[in-house]
Formats: sequence, C-alpha cells, structure tokens
Amino acid sequence: MGFAYILDSYFPYKNARSLMMHSKSKAPNYPKSHLLAASGVAALLSLALLVFPSREVEAKKTFIDLKLESASEQVFSEPDGDSSASEDFPFARTGSAEATTADATDQPPQEEGIAEAEEAAVDALSKTVVVANGDTLSTVFAKVGLSSSEVHAVLASSKDAKQFSRLKIGQTLEFQLSEQGELASLRSKLNSLESLYLEKTADGYSFKKEQVKPEISAVYAHGEIDSSLFLAAKRAGLSHNLTMDLANVFGYDIDFALDIRKGDSFEVIYEEKTVEGQRVGTGNILAARFTNRGKTYSAVRYTNKDGATSYYNADGTSMRKAFIRTPVDFARISSRFSNGRKHPILNKIRAHKGVDYAAPHGTPIKSAGDGKVLLAGRKGGYGNTVIIQHGQRYRTLYAHMQGFAKGVRNGSTVKQGQIIGYIGTTGLSTGPHLHYEFQVDGVHVDPLGLKLPMADPIAKNEKQRFLQLSQPLMARMDEEKATMLALSRQ
Ligand SMILES: [Zn+2]
Repeated sequence: MGFAYILDSYFPYKNARSLMMHSKSKAPNYPKSHLLAASGVAALLSLALLVFPSREVEAKKTFIDLKLESASEQVFSEPDGDSSASEDFPFARTGSAEATTADATDQPPQEEGIAEAEEAAVDALSKTVVVANGDTLSTVFAKVGLSSSEVHAVLASSKDAKQFSRLKIGQTLEFQLSEQGELASLRSKLNSLESLYLEKTADGYSFKKEQVKPEISAVYAHGEIDSSLFLAAKRAGLSHNLTMDLANVFGYDIDFALDIRKGDSFEVIYEEKTVEGQRVGTGNILAARFTNRGKTYSAVRYTNKDGATSYYNADGTSMRKAFIRTPVDFARISSRFSNGRKHPILNKIRAHKGVDYAAPHGTPIKSAGDGKVLLAGRKGGYGNTVIIQHGQRYRTLYAHMQGFAKGVRNGSTVKQGQIIGYIGTTGLSTGPHLHYEFQVDGVHVDPLGLKLPMADPIAKNEKQRFLQLSQPLMARMDEEKATMLALSRQ
C-alpha cells in the first residue's frame, strides 16, 4: 500500500508517543449538532468576511418577463429597499403568541378587541378577526360571539385542527357563521402560500390545509463585488439562500474564501415565486455567470431525461468534478504538501505527503469523490484512518479521525461529499486536524495543486435538448448586461 512508507517512518519513534500526549491540544469536545451549527455560521462568516476596505459598488437588479409559461403575464414591481428581508420560504414566525385554551377563558378581551368584535358584528355571517397581542383562540372566538365550548369542539375535532391555536400577531381569521350564529367555517392564512381551513359537516368538522401555487418567473440580477460577495449579492436583491447556492454552483472552480477580488462580477437568472404580484420566495438558480479575476465561468441548471439535476457549463461540460478540492468545509490549512519539512513531533526534516486541515474536534470530513472504502480503522501513527479507492487510478487517505461515520467500513461504497468521519487527533498528532493524502497511480500528489478531473458531460443524445435551454438563458444574460451597461453610461 502506497501510504505505508510514511507510516513506517513513524513507527520507529514509538517513545515519541508519550511526549505527544502532553502536547495534545485541549480543544473542548463539542457535541456534533453544535458543531454543525457552528460550521454553518462559519460558512456565513467566511463568506461575509471576505471584506476589502472600500465601499460596495452598486449592484443592480431588473425584473423582466420570462419564458416560463406561468409567468408570461406577470408584472413585477421593484421591491422596496430591503428586499433581502423577504428571505426564502421558511415562513419565519415572528412574535408568535402561543395560545393555550386552558387559561383563555379567564382572560378578558382587550378593549380594541371589543371594538373589533362590534365592528365585525355589523356584517352578519362573515367575520374577520386580526390577531392582536395577547389573543388566544378563545378570545378570538369570543370576538365573533362564539363560545369556548366551540373552541374546544374545533380543537378536539382532529390533530391537525390544533394548528388553529398557534396564533401570530397580525394573522387573520375569517369566520363564516350559520344563521343560528354557530361556526360554519374558519379560514386562517398562515402566510402568502398556506391557509388552514375548517368546515362544519354533518359529522363534525373537516380540516384541510390549502396551498396556493405561486407563479414562478425567471428574474435576472447582476452584481459587482467591491468588498464581499455577500454584500454585492444583497445589493443585487439575492437572498441568503440564493447567495449560498451561487457560491455552491461555482464552488468547484472558484474558492470563495481565497480567490474573490474587487471587480469580480456575477449575473444570475433565478426563479422567483410570487402570489398576486407579491414576492413570496425564490427557487432555483437557472443560469449564472461569474467573472473571477478576468475569467468568466458559466452555469446552467439542467435536469436530464432520467430526472437527475446538475449544473453544467454553457457548452454542456460538467461543472462537477470527480473530486472536491477540500474534504473539510471551512477549515484552516495548517500544513501544506511538501517534500521536506520539520516534523513537529519528531523534530526531523521529512516529507509531508499530504495537506493538513485544522478544525475543531468533531467537524465532519467528506469523501472527496465516489469510491470504495479500502480501510476504515486504526493505522499506526495515522490513528483512525479511512482510505478510499476512486476508480482505477485515484486513492485518498484521511487520518487522525476522532471516529468514523455510520456505515463507513472496509468494503463499503461512498458518494462524493458523503461524511465519512470526524476531525480528531488520534495517532501521531499534535491537535485536532485532518491529514489528507491524494494519490494518482500510486504516487502522492499535492491535492491543492492537482488539476481535478471532470465529471461526465451532458449525454450526447441530450446535447440538443440542453442547448435549447442553455442558449436562450445565455442570450438573455448578454442582453440584460448590455442594457445595463448602456443605461449606466447615460
Ligand atoms: Zn499531515
């Protein structure tokens, strides 16, 4: 096995091990979930902090009609100042006033509530209540003259109906009453896309969740980076999620932590979801271009006939590489590949046939590519180690792991990006880090210097279909950019 020689050179120094124990770092052992959250934050920070000193150049956004059928008649209005506030879907619940029916009956309706109820009473059978601070389902029912026993009947009618008791300030509840003043139906709008609906039937209440299908249109945005990608993207009206998507799409070609420069620019065509002209969220990036240090990369989202979706360069070659460059996200390179360096423990000059990534204990380590696990186990000075064979020619090694991910064992297969283990400091190691080696045809190479092999391009029999999608998207970006430049020269 090609990795063995480094290992062999470790073995004669077994007494170095006791020394090493003392020098181990005392990094706290975070729970994994905590770390995952932390790495998300790190992701944000590492992108947000790519800051150059000067101010942001303006980033522009236009809304244009698109080729998607559903959107053909859509008219867009410029979003107000802080459009980034309307994030992607997670229907953020602000100031949710959790209602409990138990204490509800003692709670006197507030004064404005009484006024509302009186107003509502004017319109006989159809009544709308806007949830105010302190409201519970019982107080809301009381405003339209419904008793607390009706509240209980509604909530007891099904498990789903209990969702009515989760009230948010400002939420509207639309009641339909019978001639006898009993509840006939109730609709509660959760957000622009979802409503709860309950209707009185012969045998109790029937509940359903109503979904509004948003109109989807393709929107163009363009930004120029002055200080950071995040700021430029925000100016361009891109949500946080879209910005992360953009970084992921170009992640094989551009290192967003190191390569971004002032003057870099991007264009993106993405799906925007609207309901009755209101922006309610965004969808996928359909196409994008990123100019980094004078070189322009293009990306087109394509779903093949088997239903698999991926991003391709505009000419149909894959953006995806057979290997990801870095098996740990947002780690710091603590030692590079070299043919001669002083070993920190052994204090001797020796080659370092891999790259070290320092990161906290428990940080996930990903497989650099699809492959078969040759070893998942203890390996001398390497400590807990995973070795993966990728096709005939490539082999990767991951050392000093704290532990292995579930299902990763000798002979198992792994996918690119799959978590195979966690950062630790087992074996001959001075602190939590990943020692990562890459071999081509049995020879160690520098994974950072490696020209990564490409994944498969668009299949020949789908090339025509792909170009029919890709060409209009590229043409639209050309057109939009030309218009924008012409406008900025005026
Ligand atoms: Zn190393």
